[in-house]
Amino acid sequence: MTARTAATQDDLRRHNRARLLRRLHEGGAASRSDLVAFSGLNRSTVGVLVSELADAGLVTEVAGAAGQVGRPSLLVQPDAESAVVVALDLKVERTVVALVGLGGTVLWRKEQSHKRTSYTPQAAIRNVTTLTAHALRHAPPHAVWVGVGVSVPGTVDHVDGRVRLAPNLGWADVPLGGLVREAMNGKFGYAPAIEVGNDADLGAVAEHVRGVGASNRNLIYLSGEVGVGGGVIIEGRAMTGAGGFGGEVGHMVVNPQGVTCRCGARGCWETEIGRDAIIRAAALGDDSVEVEDVVAAAAAGNRKAQAAIDEVGEWLGVGLANLVNLFNPEVIVLGGHLRLIFPLVSGTVYRRIHYALPASREQVRVEVPALNGDSTLIGAAESAFEGLLTDPIDVVSHAHHAVAS
Ligand SMILES: [Zn+2]
Repeated sequence: MTARTAATQDDLRRHNRARLLRRLHEGGAASRSDLVAFSGLNRSTVGVLVSELADAGLVTEVAGAAGQVGRPSLLVQPDAESAVVVALDLKVERTVVALVGLGGTVLWRKEQSHKRTSYTPQAAIRNVTTLTAHALRHAPPHAVWVGVGVSVPGTVDHVDGRVRLAPNLGWADVPLGGLVREAMNGKFGYAPAIEVGNDADLGAVAEHVRGVGASNRNLIYLSGEVGVGGGVIIEGRAMTGAGGFGGEVGHMVVNPQGVTCRCGARGCWETEIGRDAIIRAAALGDDSVEVEDVVAAAAAGNRKAQAAIDEVGEWLGVGLANLVNLFNPEVIVLGGHLRLIFPLVSGTVYRRIHYALPASREQVRVEVPALNGDSTLIGAAESAFEGLLTDPIDVVSHAHHAVAS
């Protein structure tokens, strides 16, 4: 065998091993026969690859249900306690952290609020480090720590995890990926893969892999937070644009007579459907009012709250009709506070979507996330598993144990 064919065979084997692990991570337990059908590889190759993944501790084989004849078949399942990631969702007024095991099992989760004005990048890094230490304390004894995923409400350079602009946090040009790596090395003497992503892009991935869009190849996710971000998946792939900054649908200008946006433009979509717009319009008169309070007030018959929500419904429909025409998605997932608003305004929204071109509008459905408020958090976890799912054996052999970190 020449060196070159040996290298190619090694690559192929690594590639196939990664494909099987990704199938198990995303789709859950499967029999060897399922894996043969999924991969198109022969039975003995699948057997060898499964054994290698089992030797690395990543999968286990357990007895499945008995078939029609013969012995019960063995099920290959990802071991949630074998490899873990820490996912962090940095929101404008709170941080959510989770320890997530292989296969997407959330092993531990916690939320912490913070003041918008005091959440500087330095404060965020301290917070991320402390919360990561908390998360690792809940790691299973033998788990290796293979990644950290961070979700940010802003535009992020995928190559180095630099936050270009997070207008609602007041951050510009923050090398977050590098800062998190430095902080992890300082605190734990080790840093696994660090992935920083835009919240809506990560929400889109999570709903595509594990949520309402699991059987769809064309999906848009909207993160309704203080701002409104968009994540777009076309033909099963995330649409990034030239620099990874695409999909910022919250800054589509829908109302040139509207108010000035934090990005500097006037009448961006998020100035009409973002959290601040709803709270301002409802005028419930308290600084601590949340969208949940406006929804509750509307349900209790408060006219101003109802009017605020109806207005959001109109603008939501206007923007969605544009997205339907532009992207021809199969599903649009309304995340964050939009998931609370949508059930109250779905009639208005669909009336507006009716103005989109018929061919596209007939194919689209609007949904709330299957992962509730955690789509962006789970998306951050998925991004942190990416390295392991690309080269499982190599990553496991270099990773540190979570509890020792
Ligand atoms: Zn804007």
